Amino acid sequence: MSSDARSLAASVRSGERSAVDVLEEHLSRIDEREGDVHAFNLVTAESARAEAADVDARVAAGEDPGPLAGVPVALKDNLCTDGVPTTCSSRILEGWCPPYDATVVTRLAAAGAVAVGKTNLDEFAMGSSTENSAFGPTRNPHDLTRVPGGSSGGSAAAVAAGFSAISLGSDTGGSIRQPAALCGVVGVKPTYGLVSRLGLVAFGSSLDQIGPFTTTVADAALVCEVIGGHDPGDSTSLPQAFPSVSDHLDDGVDGLRVGIITEMMGEGISPDVAARVRAAADALAAAGATVEEVSIPALTFGLSAYYLVAPAEASSNLARYDGVRYGNRVDAPTAGEMMEATRTAGFGDEVKRRIMLGTYALSAGYYDAFYGKALKVRTLIRNDFDAAYERFDALISPTSPTTAFAFGDKTADPLQMYLNDVCTIPTNLAGHPAMSLPFGVGDDGLPVGVQVLAPALGEVAMFRVASVLESSLASSGPVAS
Ligand code: GLN
Repeated sequence: MSSDARSLAASVRSGERSAVDVLEEHLSRIDEREGDVHAFNLVTAESARAEAADVDARVAAGEDPGPLAGVPVALKDNLCTDGVPTTCSSRILEGWCPPYDATVVTRLAAAGAVAVGKTNLDEFAMGSSTENSAFGPTRNPHDLTRVPGGSSGGSAAAVAAGFSAISLGSDTGGSIRQPAALCGVVGVKPTYGLVSRLGLVAFGSSLDQIGPFTTTVADAALVCEVIGGHDPGDSTSLPQAFPSVSDHLDDGVDGLRVGIITEMMGEGISPDVAARVRAAADALAAAGATVEEVSIPALTFGLSAYYLVAPAEASSNLARYDGVRYGNRVDAPTAGEMMEATRTAGFGDEVKRRIMLGTYALSAGYYDAFYGKALKVRTLIRNDFDAAYERFDALISPTSPTTAFAFGDKTADPLQMYLNDVCTIPTNLAGHPAMSLPFGVGDDGLPVGVQVLAPALGEVAMFRVASVLESSLASSGPVAS
């Protein structure tokens, strides 16, 4: 039985299946495997049952509950949910319940989706493996000895394990695309400003975007259309609807110009992963696209710029966790000592590292040398991308340099972990859209993700390319995973 969101919603809207039945099927999968996978910080089975019953009542009354009627959705635990704990997988927020829903949460509910729980992440979305969660890591459903990627590892694993048909994550430097690649699902980071950040706990505000995890490209298109579009509550929200990508999924790529990014195919990229990207290029060429290599030199500086810009913004955003306004407090004789004790006990090592890096980069004596310079590099990256997009409609690359790695492989050296994001980070710095879709497996039999990138608001071309890749893979026969 098909369990993609579109098919589930169609069967619920037509009355062929009840939303309650769809939900129970997913809850039973959670019962079976969540103990091993640990995708969730919280499963909200009871409220989900009430929401599903409400969807069924609306269908019975002749109403249309919406395009995601009865579709179970898992929410990254850095998305605010009214009255439901939102922890960011940090001790500092334990027990905190937001007083409102994130805009994306409201929009999913209005489209008939049923929220099944809050998913695990690297603390405050800082990491690439979920090993930085204060509540223990999530395991990759394809191989429990491997990481699911991060920081939205719980959301990626939830969809890969069939716990929910769709999920939401946030992507500051790759946190949707990299776990999507490692878990063999589709993940989208939209153009900055197309999806409201209201109610997303801020990490790097100039980089953060919310996006979906799904099992199909068409589902990803639908979820983007549902959650996207202007929100007056987010000052960086663009005054327009999400481009209607669903209407163009069957347009093919005939005549499209697609570039393979040279800088993302060489050193540091596993040969089996690069081979899958070449196979994707061949599939696009066979479908009528013009495919060529393109060098975008400034991309090599992406990682260095990001690890100044993102920590700088994080150090400012995380200043609000002071023991006064949110979550945990460690009491001490003076306010200053209370704040210090609260933050010392509440934040994990990686979060502290980012706060220190960011504070240093922003400090008066070093601002020009570090933060100021990183902003210049950011402009350089955007300009180099622009030059490439004069010649190409979309670009492709690996999403992650390798398939899913083993627990503990990269925890000893933060740089090794940071290097995971080398292919995903430039997009965030530029504010462009990019997505990852599964395109076969590596030498170890684990999923490989191909990344499709496009210029700002180039979602239509991006989805056309992804859709052709998805169908070319389907027609080339089964690929184990
Ligand atoms: N892995 C990157 C980091 O640790 C990206 C995280 C993200 O996109 N939230 O910053």
